[in-house]
Amino acid sequence: MAAPTIINNAETLATVPHIFRIGGTEYAKLGTERNGGTRLFALSGDVAKPGVYELPMGYNLKKMIYEVGGGIPDGRSLKAVVPGGSSTPVLLPSEIDIGMDFDQVAKAGSMLGSGGVVVLDDSVCMVEFALRTMKFYQHESCGWCIPCREGTDWLKKTLTRFHAGGGVAKDIDNIRYLAQNMLGRTFCPLGDAAAMPTIAFVDKFREEFEDHLDGKPCPYANQPQEALANAY
Ligand code: SF4
Repeated sequence: MAAPTIINNAETLATVPHIFRIGGTEYAKLGTERNGGTRLFALSGDVAKPGVYELPMGYNLKKMIYEVGGGIPDGRSLKAVVPGGSSTPVLLPSEIDIGMDFDQVAKAGSMLGSGGVVVLDDSVCMVEFALRTMKFYQHESCGWCIPCREGTDWLKKTLTRFHAGGGVAKDIDNIRYLAQNMLGRTFCPLGDAAAMPTIAFVDKFREEFEDHLDGKPCPYANQPQEALANAY
């Protein structure tokens, strides 16, 4: 009562002095027309120079990885990029020549999200990455609504079995079906956040899922997996 409260994150508060210094109009001009200003991008995973970088909105993602982040180390090649935190659908190398603002990333089929850019090189197993992501969401689910509580748990169990070589062909469609049926059916966005990346992993890396069928060992099991170690 009579005590208005403002809640902001550190990124917003860090930006305020600069907006006062140069003025809102000038600050907005740093970005694109509909996405003004700058953004803090947390670049992690398989890049030579991971870190938190303040860049103009609309900064090219490919340039961010190869120029700001110093490219992919150890002579590896790029396999995929998670552009905006764990909930955002993964992008293929052919999809990263885009500006990092809300509109352009959405047009590419993903989301700018938190600005947490995770770079994955060709040693990363995408099934294991999907599993890691789901372990996070299953742990974070508060359990209030059934699609999220049961969906994340079933997805974690299925992906665990699948990655261990115990998968059958219909699991691949079942994983996608389960995730699809969580979308839009939960009280808070965590259910969607778990489902959206899972659908993209299956759609874009179906062949890698198929490589784990029939009891085959994970083809990436002995590779160094920096992105997995750092991601979630
Ligand atoms: S969607 Fe949100 S409210 Fe529902 S169980 Fe998951 S975390 Fe809880």
